[in-house]
Amino acid sequence: KTMSSKEAMELENKYGAHNYHPLPVVLSRGEGVFVWDIEGKKYYDFLSAYSAVNQGHCHPKIIGALKEQAETLTLTSRAFYSDALGAFQKYATEYFGFEKVLPMNTGAEGVETAIKVCRKWGYEKKGIAADQAKIIVCEQNFHGRTTTIVSFSSDEGARRNFGPLTPGFVKIPYNDIEALKEALKDPNVAGFLVEPIQGEAGVYTPADTYIREAATLCKASNVLFIADEIQTGIARTGSLLAVCGNCSCEGNCERQPATYTKPDILILGKAMSGGAYPVSAVLADDRIMDVLTPGTHGSTFGGNPLACKVAMAALDVVKDEKLAQNARQLGVIFRERMGKFIATTKLVKMVRGKGLLNAILINDTEDSSTAWDICVALKDNGLLAKPTHGNIIRFAPPLVMTEEQLHDCCDIIEKTIREF
Ligand code: PLP
Repeated sequence: KTMSSKEAMELENKYGAHNYHPLPVVLSRGEGVFVWDIEGKKYYDFLSAYSAVNQGHCHPKIIGALKEQAETLTLTSRAFYSDALGAFQKYATEYFGFEKVLPMNTGAEGVETAIKVCRKWGYEKKGIAADQAKIIVCEQNFHGRTTTIVSFSSDEGARRNFGPLTPGFVKIPYNDIEALKEALKDPNVAGFLVEPIQGEAGVYTPADTYIREAATLCKASNVLFIADEIQTGIARTGSLLAVCGNCSCEGNCERQPATYTKPDILILGKAMSGGAYPVSAVLADDRIMDVLTPGTHGSTFGGNPLACKVAMAALDVVKDEKLAQNARQLGVIFRERMGKFIATTKLVKMVRGKGLLNAILINDTEDSSTAWDICVALKDNGLLAKPTHGNIIRFAPPLVMTEEQLHDCCDIIEKTIREF
């Protein structure tokens, strides 16, 4: 006998650490833009596992690569070469336009890797005195959950009682060029770590010029510009990367100098595998990546053959199916419809975002339960989304969605909120 949703939730509550507060729905199957619960009810996925499932659930090409490699060779460790790693490294560096790539597994590991590379570069290339290197970060950032990363979080819940915290980080307001200018005056600054759009903060979208200006300022101060595109990257915001700006890449980024801002270090994760396997990556050119030498960094699973084959298939899908263009076109339609709808209701204050990374602001306080209650009602009406920061609901469907499906989803959202 298969278990009921109620039983599955009871198991998680009884045996699992309570470090999450999931919406009360128990999923057991996914395909494309849809997921199904244990009882067989079908939902639109409007979260995409925090933008990991950009290519849609169980994409046949990605799962095909996973199955084939799983039956061939899964893990060698980096003690030996494999026939998949070099192929992946060539593929990924050409795909994103960097000289070197370092594969890891989770996003947080990618960020940790970038921090280590940046600090080592600061000492060995920039000449910062021992243990004095600083990295500038932004308020309301989200870069993961390790002890070092939570050390520079603005979220008290993420930091409290996890000390002693890691020093060496300077926090400035996001989307504030003057604050960055001021912080860059310190000669011990080695890097500026930033999300091109702050996803977890509530899809906070900076001025169009922010990223470009920030990168230019960093360059002038000999400071590494580090883009965390774990959530925004890989077609989510309507271009291959959010740092591509409004370049009209065909998912085959031509990196138009007029819009493209090349980071010194690029961090990717999530959709690198289309959600089929944990894969993250850090990309940089030789002048930066060559600070790493044998024994200075590593991971047992990082760059394993299964990850390499899955990632290549997942990135193929992004280009083959023109997911960046689709995200861009559907994003315009989504914000247009939501904009019109918002004018008719007092409950929603605004819609913002780029491509298919969007959010609506509920007209209520951060500690109210309205956004949560709306998400529960959306679930009952067949669409899954999750509040971030109390009164903000993020909308980030898989990028394989059709226009007709998007309109269907907008109907569900509008109907649900109108009934509130
Ligand atoms: N950085 C950003 C911008 C993210 O959105 C996330 C995950 O939400 C992370 C880092 C951490 O990734 P992971 O949960 O895979 O460690």
